[in-house]
Amino acid sequence: MGLTKTIWTKPSEYLRANEPETPVLFFAPAILQDTARRFIAGFPGLVTYAVKSNPEEAVIENLAAAGVRGFDVASLPEIRMIRRLAPDAALHYNNPVRSRAEIAEAAALGVVSYSVDSASELAKLIALVPAGGTEISVRFKLPVDGAAYNFGAKFGATVETATRLLAQVAAAGFTPSLTFHPGTQCTDPAAWEAYIRAAAAIAAGAGVRIARLNVGGGFPSHRLQGVLPPLEAIFALIDRVTAEAFGTDRPALLCEPGRALVAESMTLATRVKAVRDGVHVFLNDGIYGALAELPLIGGIDRIEVIDAHGRRRTGEGVERIVFGPTCDSMDRLPGLVVLPGDMEEGDHVLFHGLGAYSTATNTRFNGFGELVIATALSLQG
Ligand SMILES: *Cc1c(COP(=O)(O)O)cnc(C)c1O
Repeated sequence: MGLTKTIWTKPSEYLRANEPETPVLFFAPAILQDTARRFIAGFPGLVTYAVKSNPEEAVIENLAAAGVRGFDVASLPEIRMIRRLAPDAALHYNNPVRSRAEIAEAAALGVVSYSVDSASELAKLIALVPAGGTEISVRFKLPVDGAAYNFGAKFGATVETATRLLAQVAAAGFTPSLTFHPGTQCTDPAAWEAYIRAAAAIAAGAGVRIARLNVGGGFPSHRLQGVLPPLEAIFALIDRVTAEAFGTDRPALLCEPGRALVAESMTLATRVKAVRDGVHVFLNDGIYGALAELPLIGGIDRIEVIDAHGRRRTGEGVERIVFGPTCDSMDRLPGLVVLPGDMEEGDHVLFHGLGAYSTATNTRFNGFGELVIATALSLQG
């Protein structure tokens, strides 16, 4: 993967000039910075970035330039990278399972915020991290729906366990906080309401006034035409429910979005390798590449097709079966994809809103997966 140095006006300009055989991710730094400023202006607390959703250095640098001062990190390589690119930023080491060696190095690198969801992991932190000035956030989970898939299935203590852990965190002299993650692409704001009210009940049950409440990531991105993510409505709900649930004990809030910060800043351009029988379309990228997420959380219909001369195809939409380039029969986009009837071999199919979980999970399976990142002012074909 490599970032090109030239700044292109729009994807079609690059595609016409280069006729790339490999997939290209077009990155618009201005869109990323605008999205970051929208979060910083609208969210009633600290906005941190979940690095895993797109760890490209250009992404980190543009978020820092736009004013993002905190990062949710899950591993030592992520910690080291953020220390290098944004030395003054706060690091929240929120992977609740860590080896002792990882904890020791994180502490040596100055990490002073950790999450925890079990007694055995809390014991490790108590043994290895000095309490004074260090925050430990207890991560809890609820059986609520609303997300495209549920992270609570892996991490998060039950309300009962979280109440016990929070009291232990405070008793050990750490700064006590609570955290949850409602699951990714969470389109139902009611999930945050349930979690925030449960957080207030956990704090009350433990007899602890929490310093901060981390309301996780999960903010939705724009995947379907005509269905805009209700970000400001979610921010307002979080603000209102926190005030209602905590009253005068209101904690400082923080959030750790990945997807909703970065998705809109990248568009993936794939190329049509073959159209067979008018129905089967073979692209040079698929579910083992930058489109890995589509089978997991559903398709994207924000698609444009550009011909080899850089012109937008406008033919009537036809339902197609779309395959990726590998020899695995699983390498198919979910459902039927509506693509212009006049599209041909050599055209480029552009998928908008693909900045999250695209570069990060791209594999080299079957020898494919080479991915160029090109900078563009606008992402419209
Ligand atoms: C992945 C993750 C995030 C970011 O999730 P998005 O859906 O990309 O916003 C935030 N917090 C935690 C704990 C995560 O695991």
